Amino acid sequence: MISIQEKTRCCGCGACVQACPRNCISLKDDQEGFLYPFVNQDECIKCKVCTKVCPMQNTWSPQKPLKLFVAVNSNDNIRLASSSGGVFSLFADLFLKENGVVYGAAFDSNWEVHHIRIESPEYLHLLRGSKYIQSKIENTYKDVECDLKKGRQVLFSGTPCQIAGLQSFLRKKYDSLATLDFICHGVPSPGVWRKYLKENLKKSDIKSISFRDKFYGWKLFSICFEMKNKIFRERALRNAFMRLFILDNLTIRPSCYNCSFKNGKSNSDITIADFWSIKKIKPEFDDNRGASAVLCNTSKGMDLFKKITCMYEQVDFDKIRVFNNSYSQSVTEPANREAFWEYLRNNSVNKAALKFSYTMKGRFKRSIRVFLEFIGVKL
Ligand SMILES: Cc1cc2nc3c(=O)[nH]c(=O)nc-3n(C[C@H](O)[C@H](O)[C@H](O)COP(=O)(O)OP(=O)(O)OC[C@H]3O[C@@H](n4cnc5c(N)ncnc54)[C@H](O)[C@@H]3O)c2cc1C
Repeated sequence: MISIQEKTRCCGCGACVQACPRNCISLKDDQEGFLYPFVNQDECIKCKVCTKVCPMQNTWSPQKPLKLFVAVNSNDNIRLASSSGGVFSLFADLFLKENGVVYGAAFDSNWEVHHIRIESPEYLHLLRGSKYIQSKIENTYKDVECDLKKGRQVLFSGTPCQIAGLQSFLRKKYDSLATLDFICHGVPSPGVWRKYLKENLKKSDIKSISFRDKFYGWKLFSICFEMKNKIFRERALRNAFMRLFILDNLTIRPSCYNCSFKNGKSNSDITIADFWSIKKIKPEFDDNRGASAVLCNTSKGMDLFKKITCMYEQVDFDKIRVFNNSYSQSVTEPANREAFWEYLRNNSVNKAALKFSYTMKGRFKRSIRVFLEFIGVKL
């Protein structure tokens, strides 16, 4: 029976919940706003299916990608609406145009993030763009299994741990399933997001949210809220929610500080990412509107890449260690993490960011660190 003794040993994928034959596991929010499984002991038959499907209790071998490409979507509108070079939409289109199904993360009407299933290109915009909050998987692993058993072609996208969770849940390989993940910094707390929205904006007035708005360019991206009567846009490094996530690493899930799925261990077919140092590597791809890194991890991933139409060039795999540390390294847990959460209990997100993120000294040190990481120096 699944029992979470240490929070670092649960990534929140929910494979256990969906695999339980008695439906006696449910996910509940902890104090930080992350979901963890709880077992109804009275109903549990101790079959251990939950532990068998837990990706954190299995060992995963690293896989070296077959090829790495820089790629950009030639449709400028789609690229601008995407976080990086807009390649996710190209892969999704392949499936949707051939009667396939695509799974990915979307906002609901309350601005919470969930995994959903789509069958038509008309709904692809819902999945487009990064939502920097842990997405709730809900019953989508079961739905994928159902689609696969009916012979449908499925593309499932998500964080590396969500992909590993799906593969553990299915417990067998399907030719008709393709998986796509991204290089992941870590997933921020849905609870902090909820609190941030409540404290800063009237939810019912929000029309759209972009975490990767390119108004000031792809590199200096902003978070943008389109409201009923105005646009609220703030550079990512000036926004409290974003800063606590990307600069301070304070709001990410405990398991992300020691991620088990780095270095291709999720076994996804394709991994996508921001190609941050593109200016140095292939300057002809750098127009500050977004460039994607595409890692084809398997021959299935390679075949899919051959089918999409985009501007691309092959790049030496070793460049990945230079341009994107998160491929192989988890971020370090900050020493003040506990103090931060304690403070956040009685204070607003903005106030907590001012106290824990915005000191001049800390800001200077962090700016140097981010700058060094940005130009490819391994710290
Ligand atoms: C939490 C998080 C952390 C990330 N960290 C990094 C990083 O450190 N380095 C890096 O290079 N790239 C990172 N990315 C990926 C990057 O932001 C882009 O999403 C990626 O490069 C794809 O961009 P795109 O332009 O091809 O497509 P887009 O249209 O921007 O990609 C959308 C895809 O992301 C998925 N997605 C969006 N939000 C979530 C979510 N909350 N949970 C699961 N899946 C989601 C959608 O299902 C879809 O598959 C991260 C993304 C997320 C969501």
